[in-house]
Amino acid sequence: MKITEIRTHLLEHRLETAFESASMRFDKRVHLLVEVICDDGTTGWGECLGPAGPNRAMVEAYTPWLIGKDPLETEKHWAVLYNALRDQGQRGVSVCALSGIDIALWDIKGKHFGVPVSTLLGGRFRERIRAYATGSFKRDGVDRVADNAEETGRHAADGFHAVKIKIGFDPSEDLQVIRAVREAIGPDTRLMIDGNHGYDVIEAVRVGNAAAEYDIDWFEEPVIPEQLDAYAEVRARQPIPVAGGETWHTRWGFAEPLRRRAIDIAQPDLCGVGGFTEAKRVADLATLHGVRVVPHVWGTAVQIAAALQFMAAMVPDPVRRGPIEPIMEFDRTHNPFRQAVVTRPIEHENGWVSIPDGPGLGIEIDRDALKEFAPKG
Ligand SMILES: [Mg+2]
Repeated sequence: MKITEIRTHLLEHRLETAFESASMRFDKRVHLLVEVICDDGTTGWGECLGPAGPNRAMVEAYTPWLIGKDPLETEKHWAVLYNALRDQGQRGVSVCALSGIDIALWDIKGKHFGVPVSTLLGGRFRERIRAYATGSFKRDGVDRVADNAEETGRHAADGFHAVKIKIGFDPSEDLQVIRAVREAIGPDTRLMIDGNHGYDVIEAVRVGNAAAEYDIDWFEEPVIPEQLDAYAEVRARQPIPVAGGETWHTRWGFAEPLRRRAIDIAQPDLCGVGGFTEAKRVADLATLHGVRVVPHVWGTAVQIAAALQFMAAMVPDPVRRGPIEPIMEFDRTHNPFRQAVVTRPIEHENGWVSIPDGPGLGIEIDRDALKEFAPKG
């Protein structure tokens, strides 16, 4: 089997209501899928986290190294592609593009052997996983406190055991949001806060200390991701466990935060950290340091399927008193192509998501949807 072609599929939808995190404004949804085609007709799918245009250019830059090669040699291709751009591309879109390619190659490998990727990774510890609802961005033209409370109340009523909300704006207003959300979801639903690196240390420490009484599971990206000492300081000076990692790339990107104990929870993104090949190494590294892993997920059903395959194979640890089961991020913001790109949508049922057990990622792409959401003009 040989790789004959690599295609990219850019998907775009202009939002009727724009929304914001502390670090980014979304007036449209734009995602990039990668399709790797082999001479025997086998096709693998992947997705890249981050800016779709630059990711597309990077996938095209990698393509000459892959044409005519055996798609099953995932480790070898990872090393060759990473090395090709190592001198200027140790982080960022170069690794996000590599991630999309790596996921597509693992999809091909699973289809070739007739097993899900989770089996190739060592076996499935679970057939379904508990999801948590991510949402509560700042939406244009609405009262943020009431809007976030209403939305999270809905997620709790839908069966989600946990919700994550966006903070990192004005600390006083953020605390009002946290209080209103805790009231809306009641005492039994778990609550996480995500700063999207909108604070400095002083603000993060203030918010963490004031928010602790609302029983917060974790405080995600309190400060900018480059400042590992600031992360460690936030962790030391307020009581909520600190999470981070959606912008850290490869094992080298995670080594230092783990070694310095800058985080309690590591959040590698399959589509950004370097695909299955590298996510496995990062998860092993986190385990070595006693840090919990909760992958970041922000994409279409292709990314969701990749995260599910990966999480199916995550080793429960510790095992003595029963495993701490991983939980899965489930984006609830508006994205009409998120599930339309696959023929069988990956939805939750009362807060639980079943892990596909078909070959590869266990999904089938709906090509009509790719056409429908391709950029016009
Ligand atoms: Mg986040």
